Amino acid sequence: MAQILENAWQYLITNFSEFQLASAGTFIIHESVFFLSGLPYLLMETWGLRKYKIQRKVNTPAAQEKCVMRLIMYHVCVNLPLMIVSYPVFKYMGFTSALPLPSWKVVSLQIFSYFILEDFIFYWGHRILHTKWLYKHVHSVHHEYATPFGLTSEYAHPAEILFLGFATIFGPAITGPHLLTLWLWVSVRVLETVEAHCGYDFPWSLSRFLPIYGGADFHDYHHRLLYTKSGNYSSTFTYMDWIFGTDKGYRKLKALKSAQEAHDAMSAPTEKVE
Ligand SMILES: [Zn+2]
Ligand SMILES: [Zn+2]
Repeated sequence: MAQILENAWQYLITNFSEFQLASAGTFIIHESVFFLSGLPYLLMETWGLRKYKIQRKVNTPAAQEKCVMRLIMYHVCVNLPLMIVSYPVFKYMGFTSALPLPSWKVVSLQIFSYFILEDFIFYWGHRILHTKWLYKHVHSVHHEYATPFGLTSEYAHPAEILFLGFATIFGPAITGPHLLTLWLWVSVRVLETVEAHCGYDFPWSLSRFLPIYGGADFHDYHHRLLYTKSGNYSSTFTYMDWIFGTDKGYRKLKALKSAQEAHDAMSAPTEKVE
């Protein structure tokens, strides 16, 4: 397996320059992971699969189309230039695409630290975006979709896309990782944000097994509520909101729901066994 990966990598670095791989290559990875992971949720909403859907409301085909068309435009006009201009910074910090490939230990440790850093920057930036002026002129674009469907994760004002891009590339920019680590980080970060906006809470959702992971239920609550009351500002984890008390409304609602479920289970009529 490691040999196959090394051979594939050798092919890439022989046929393309490091700049091409870091800019256009990262862009292709981002687009592929984003649309391939987001489209199933869009189809599920279109086909009316409701069993695990968090909200009853669905988006109209026109609203879905608007989201996809804007995303393509913003990705080409904002994300791609950002990837191009950040290359010299990465390079200065020791970024490389050369063989040998980094060990899985180094890759995992770097990606884990990027998640912590991104979540911290995102939390504070997101709280600031919920102040009156910035919400009205910038962040309200992302909140146009009160019922998220995966692809809405990156639907935002260009200024917010730049901020989100900054939070995502800050970790790699200060550590100068290997290109493989950067591609894996971009992929898992996209998968995470698409899942947080998917609009479905499945029995197999990661948040049910990892208590500090936010996930769809956590972020869906943020989209459902009025911008001054929403809370749940973190992107990935739940501890920042817990520490700073911005998840109180969400926790209260969860407690009420559990109490209601327990009450319903107690008062359900028991089946007569003949
Ligand atoms: Zn928000
Ligand atoms: Zn969101």
